[in-house]
Amino acid sequence: MTQAQATHPLPNKADFAHVTDWVFDLDNTLYPHHVDLFAQIDVNMTGYVSALLALSREEARAIQKRYYQEHGTTLKGLMIHHGIDPADFLEKAHAIDYGVLAPDLDLGEAIKALPGRKFIFTNGSVRHAEMTARALGILDHFDDIFDIVAAEYVPKPAGSTYDKFMALHRVDTTHAVMFEDLPRNLLVPKALGMKTVLLMPRDAHHEFTDAWEKRTDEDVHIDYTTSDLTGFLSRLVG
Ligand SMILES: [Mg+2]
Repeated sequence: MTQAQATHPLPNKADFAHVTDWVFDLDNTLYPHHVDLFAQIDVNMTGYVSALLALSREEARAIQKRYYQEHGTTLKGLMIHHGIDPADFLEKAHAIDYGVLAPDLDLGEAIKALPGRKFIFTNGSVRHAEMTARALGILDHFDDIFDIVAAEYVPKPAGSTYDKFMALHRVDTTHAVMFEDLPRNLLVPKALGMKTVLLMPRDAHHEFTDAWEKRTDEDVHIDYTTSDLTGFLSRLVG
């Protein structure tokens, strides 16, 4: 058992009885980390940077990752430093094979059964969220999708982006919960009074792409961790 599992117990149904708004990150949250859909996007982004700056893939990848770390998304760095068209970038980055995602009917039923509104809140595009959720067979269960365009290209974990989302949908954060796979994206939700749930890879020894994305022992802002979203949600209803 990992330390995370030891310190974060199974969900207590009463702990979620007040929740009326359910907010889900998309990538590596609504589908498991091991599906690795993001690896395809990652390759496309490297290709984009390589073509844009006429660099080898290796050089391009270093810049891609630097922008990701410094600006929250590779896209934001490319907009600031190279003035690229974000729509063009998003289209090319998300030109991937969604066929690797299988319909997840159990997850769909679990989401459908939750009382209240359900949102997808992603640093990707609406199209990517729709393609992903449709492939999973869960798209119809969501009330709305808030994407990087709605966020005016300022990605999570920027506080202003959470504020935009909450204001747009009139979310009472004291009656809301956020599900995320990146610990840093749960800092603001916790500060706003939301319940926070961290999605962990099923394989505890999974190598994260970037070590700095990993959770740390200082993650007191995380109420629960789980590697089984469907199982977690199923405990909260019925
Ligand atoms: Mg994610």
